[in-house]
Order: sequence, then C-alpha cells, then structure tokens
Amino acid sequence: MTVETLAPGVHAIDAPFEDVPLQIYVIEGERLTVIDPGVPQTAEGPLAQGLAELGHRPADVDLVVNTHGHHDHRGGNGVVAAHNPGVVIAAHPADATWISSTEQYLAEEYLRFRPAWEPPTAALDRIRLLCGADLPVTLELSHGDELDLGDGHVLSVEHIPGHTDGSIALLHRAAKVLFTGDAVQARGTPLQCRADFFPHYRHVAEYRRSLDFFAGCGAEIVGTAHTGVCAAHRAAQLIAESRRFADEYTAVFTAAFAEAGSATLADLARATRDHYPRYDDGIPLFNTISGYLAELCAAGVARHDPPDRFVWLG
Ligand SMILES: [Zn+2]
Repeated sequence: MTVETLAPGVHAIDAPFEDVPLQIYVIEGERLTVIDPGVPQTAEGPLAQGLAELGHRPADVDLVVNTHGHHDHRGGNGVVAAHNPGVVIAAHPADATWISSTEQYLAEEYLRFRPAWEPPTAALDRIRLLCGADLPVTLELSHGDELDLGDGHVLSVEHIPGHTDGSIALLHRAAKVLFTGDAVQARGTPLQCRADFFPHYRHVAEYRRSLDFFAGCGAEIVGTAHTGVCAAHRAAQLIAESRRFADEYTAVFTAAFAEAGSATLADLARATRDHYPRYDDGIPLFNTISGYLAELCAAGVARHDPPDRFVWLG
C-alpha cells in the first residue's frame, strides 16, 4: 500500500528515490493539494499511483505547496504541471527563485562556498536532473497565512527559516497534523548507499526557534519529508534529538575552532568529519558550519577574513 491516511482527507505517500526516504502529502480539500511532490520520478511514480488509489488523476491536482526550494521537494512540480498547466505553485518568496530557476538554485546553494568548496560537476548535473522543470511560484505564502483548501482543510503557514531562508511548516489545526518539510533534522538524514547527510540548518537560532514551535503547536501527527510520519511521542523524541544535536555540535564546533585559532571552512569541515566520520562532506555540512560561523561572527566571538578564513577571538 502506497497511501497512509493520517486524518480524513489527509494522506501520506511513501515515495523514496535513489537511496533517500521521502514522504509526499496529499490533502483532499475542494482544492486537491500536494505538499512537496519530490523529484520528477517520485511525481511520475508513487505520487501518481497514490492519487489513483485515492480516486484522483494527476490532472486533478489544483495546488502544490513547496515547504522549501530544495530539489527533492520541488523537482516534481513540472510533472504535476504537465498534467494540469493551471496548477498553482505555492511557496515562501525567500525560496521562490530557487523553484523558478535551477541555475540560480545551484549558484546560491551549491556554489555559494566557491572557491573554498565546490561540488563535483557530476553531482551538479545529477541535481539539475532532479530539479525537473522550472516553474514560477504563483502563490506566495507568508508567516501567519491561513491557506483554505475547502472542505474544512485549512493550513496555517509558519515561516521557519532554519533549513533554508524560505522554509515553511504547515499546521492543519483541525486534524492536528503538522507538515515540517526538512525542518526537523535530528542527527541528519540516513541514506542507504552513501554517507549520511549532516544535520542541515543554515540559521542556528532560527532552527532552535522552529523546534520550540513544533514542540508547542499541539500536533498529534507530524509528517516529515525524510523521517516518515511520526505519532506525538516519536515526534517529541525527534525534536529532543534535534535540540541535543544542536547543543552537542555547538560544543564540538566551538572547541575545534578555538583550538585552531584560525581556520577555513574546509578546515572546519575536516575537523567536523574527524569527529563524526559517518557524514558526507556535501552541502548540508558546509551550510551548517557557515550558520555557526555567522552566529559567532555576529556575537563578536569570531571574525571573517575574506575570502575564506575565520579567526577565533574567544
Ligand atoms: Zn531541504
């Protein structure tokens, strides 16, 4: 069975791709809504199959909401739009250009640390394919918006700019279901065939604030993108684990940086992987390190010497 029903009219579709676990969510309001259709192959395969199990066609989808602009959340937009060119694409404006322009996404997310760090060309080409077709965001969502899908389904928009600038969570208050996108990182994303993704949050204080919101929002079911659907108890464990990791990594990172005295991003990535050898050295690791550095620089504890050196001031 592809579809798991979380509440009347609220469903999760199991849609893994490559070695990445992924859930896509469908809400059967008057406007048939998909939250994060994944990548092209998940929209063509598991999403279409799940919609069929629910008695719908891909052409029936009225609204796609992207919790943020990463390729594994918006890459299926083009597949949905190929079936229904009038589909509305909704997202926060801070991530809108990543959804409408693959090249801008790659430049601002994957190439932002050049020349200190740059992904291999093959990795960029793979991500280009996973982005699918570029589509404009036709409905901009802001913090506090109430997205009324009809038939009693209303999603409250919470802007939670920890994982990306434009990340949002969606709270279905009536059904007590929360959709977090990638905002609960716990100890990263375990992958089947590769080293795990490092916990990925580029704004540390905002990340902590979003965890506080999740803990107090009253949701009884939490739909994550890569960690499945969680009952309240499991969700509380994930949130606690996320807080613990953020605290633990603050200590690990600060100690490594203070000992080095002066370091580049690449030095700090190496020190982090020495401590946590299970992780990949990709963009999650570099984004999170840059988030910690930005916070330390803002607090006057560190100084950035461009282009890529950071000095510990203590
Ligand atoms: Zn993401």
